[in-house]
Amino acid sequence: MSKIAYGYKRSPDNKQLLPDENTAPVVKKIFQRILSGKRICEIAEILNTLAIPSPSKYLYLQSGGTKYLKHENARWYANTIEHILENPVYTGVLIQKKSSTSIFNGNKKVYLPEKDWIMRENAHIPLISREEFDLIQKRREGNVKKTTEVNLLKNKIFCGKCGAFLTKRKRENSRYFCTSHTRIFKDMCNIAINEKEIKSTISKIFDKYIEMYADISDLALKIYNSGKYKEKTNRLKKQIAEKNKELTIINNKIAELYEDLKSELISADEFEYIKASYSNECKKTEECLSQLEREYQKNTDIKNIGRKLKGIISKINKSKTDDKFIFPLVKSIVVYPERRIEAEFVFDNIFSDTLNYLKGWEVSE
Ligand SMILES: [Zn+2]
Repeated sequence: MSKIAYGYKRSPDNKQLLPDENTAPVVKKIFQRILSGKRICEIAEILNTLAIPSPSKYLYLQSGGTKYLKHENARWYANTIEHILENPVYTGVLIQKKSSTSIFNGNKKVYLPEKDWIMRENAHIPLISREEFDLIQKRREGNVKKTTEVNLLKNKIFCGKCGAFLTKRKRENSRYFCTSHTRIFKDMCNIAINEKEIKSTISKIFDKYIEMYADISDLALKIYNSGKYKEKTNRLKKQIAEKNKELTIINNKIAELYEDLKSELISADEFEYIKASYSNECKKTEECLSQLEREYQKNTDIKNIGRKLKGIISKINKSKTDDKFIFPLVKSIVVYPERRIEAEFVFDNIFSDTLNYLKGWEVSE
């Protein structure tokens, strides 16, 4: 049997819904308040202040505290109110077969498309008129469209005081703000910033990056063309060739050792002893070789640095004028009091790696 909508209870004969004397007045009040222009979160706050049990808590209380234990302290939230505002059951409509159970699906509930729902009008006493209900839906549709604009900073923008994600509201200038103060730390965080300001700050940061990258790009090019660079490349090449040669020699020695054992020139004990020493030597040389190869790789990477940086600069330049590009480049933003911003960008790693690498070079003019 499905759960009964908050505000109703089953009739004694279990054939229809009756308004629940405890909760029906609450539902009516919610509809009235929204019609009079109150906001959803304001309504939730009022209900919490008045200590009116939320739908989940009401279930818990009705069970005499034996069921729904996790709802013992459930409060009213914006989405609790939203569920009520959107449920046509309150206009007296009975909706059946919103879900059906299928044996082909392991008896899981399967939700049917809306066209397959069976709607019965005037099935029970309404708590709101159809006209008012429709009016609310129409108004909300307008709001929802406005507020569901894609949040490109989702999970990327934090409060500098408590570390919580900032919430975006399209209303109020697309403002990002910390909601912790309403939930946990009352009056502690009043962090808020609007999108326009974030964009202009990032744009300023980008200008600095472009300047720095341009310098580094030049520097990389200078290094690449320097005698010192070519010298290092050649030295590494030579060292790698030498280590490879050493490795071949050791491997040959080990092969010879097997031959010596086979022709009984050495004893099994001697064989093991010498082989262990060769193996050790072999391992050391291999380690040395792979380190040299890594260094060589890094050294030759400088060829690509200039090109890579050029790509990033053009991307940043483009971002400055197109909103769609700015935010995807952001890794994280922390907003502190006085709207001070600290930002990390997705290209920061390339930047710091490059800087670290270039530090090792001194280029004479
Ligand atoms: Zn906060």
